Amino acid sequence: MEKQAWMAQADRVLMHTYNRYPVVLDHGEGMYLYETDGTKYLDFAAGIAVFALGYGNEEYNASLKEQVDKLLHTSNYYYNVPAYDAAKALCDASGMDRVFFTNSGTEAMEGALKLARKYYYNRHGEADSEIIAMEHSFHGRSMGALAVTGTKKYREAFGPLIGEVRFAKFNDLESVRLLVNEKTAAIVLEAVQGEGGIYPAEPEFLKGIRKLCDEKDILLILDEVQCGMGRTGTMFAYQQYGIEPDILTSAKALGCGVPVGAFAAKEDVAAAMVPGDHGSTYGGNPFACNAVRTVFRLYEKLNLCTHVKEMGVYLWDVLEQICKEFPVVTAHRGLGLMQGLELSIPVGTVVSACMQKGCILITAGSNVIRFVPPLVVERCHVDEMAKILRETLSEISGK
Ligand SMILES: *Cc1c(COP(=O)(O)O)cnc(C)c1O
Repeated sequence: MEKQAWMAQADRVLMHTYNRYPVVLDHGEGMYLYETDGTKYLDFAAGIAVFALGYGNEEYNASLKEQVDKLLHTSNYYYNVPAYDAAKALCDASGMDRVFFTNSGTEAMEGALKLARKYYYNRHGEADSEIIAMEHSFHGRSMGALAVTGTKKYREAFGPLIGEVRFAKFNDLESVRLLVNEKTAAIVLEAVQGEGGIYPAEPEFLKGIRKLCDEKDILLILDEVQCGMGRTGTMFAYQQYGIEPDILTSAKALGCGVPVGAFAAKEDVAAAMVPGDHGSTYGGNPFACNAVRTVFRLYEKLNLCTHVKEMGVYLWDVLEQICKEFPVVTAHRGLGLMQGLELSIPVGTVVSACMQKGCILITAGSNVIRFVPPLVVERCHVDEMAKILRETLSEISGK
């Protein structure tokens, strides 16, 4: 069947919640993706900051296959070894004490919000808590995660969402302080805002929030679904700020392609959850958790965080240069291998044109091109991407 006809057929059965690019992906190899017709793409999106190890990592794939033959699933009513190994690895990497595994980032946020509410309930004896979140944040699409997502167009049509949520300005500590009251249970934010347009938290802002939380007995929930798992050059972005959250959420690269997320917390906070408070049939199953423990093992073996730091600097220098060359590029932000270029021309056009030249990029916010390649990216790949981006920007901006 012709590609166009095949895509039309797919569009008739898949719910139209995405405007898809005319690309039918079939397989991947390292930093490259291939369509069913063999068309090759350099991948600078990694399935939205997921595929940290690149495509076809042999050790990772072998480990998944081995687990398939052993045990795919069992209930949380029983122990399984991969779940312990994965939880231990996540605790060691994050400084958290206890973990609950979920199937996605959204569910991790959902669990984090429930935990914060339960903790508040235990202290106040009433379920009248409030949450402070940030404008332009993104935390997922379920009712709870959506309620703390600071972009109106995502929320508007789906109300009423969960109770009192107030939105402060990211990187504006005073705006947060003004919203705090005796009912504030938690402040939730991303250390580096992803979907909102790649905005790293300023050190004084994040430290200030931590201090505010300590003073007022408020829980700090850091959503590291996108910026965690080595993306910024440390296992978790907050580790570069010298602070820790009370509750951490992770997903995306946590399973490197296997759908898995987690929320984790310090002991005294985690203790608020008791048997019966939360659950998930698939959450923490041996297949997903084997993927997680293998991901942690491979990060260590490949010394991935060190590599990200190096590549992050290289990507930064290359994008700075592009920033200087093209007046349509108006800003450059980011941390490690999570960077963005803000443009004064429609970013969708630029991303589509780059794709036609063989490089997959994604947008963030309304005017930002997001660079979140697999973490195994090398200098030659950055150069290859930069060449395509330069050609595209020259053509489109007429320079
Ligand atoms: C992607 C993302 C989520 C939602 O994760 P899903 O796995 O898509 O449910 C939540 N928070 C942040 C910061 C994200 O980038």
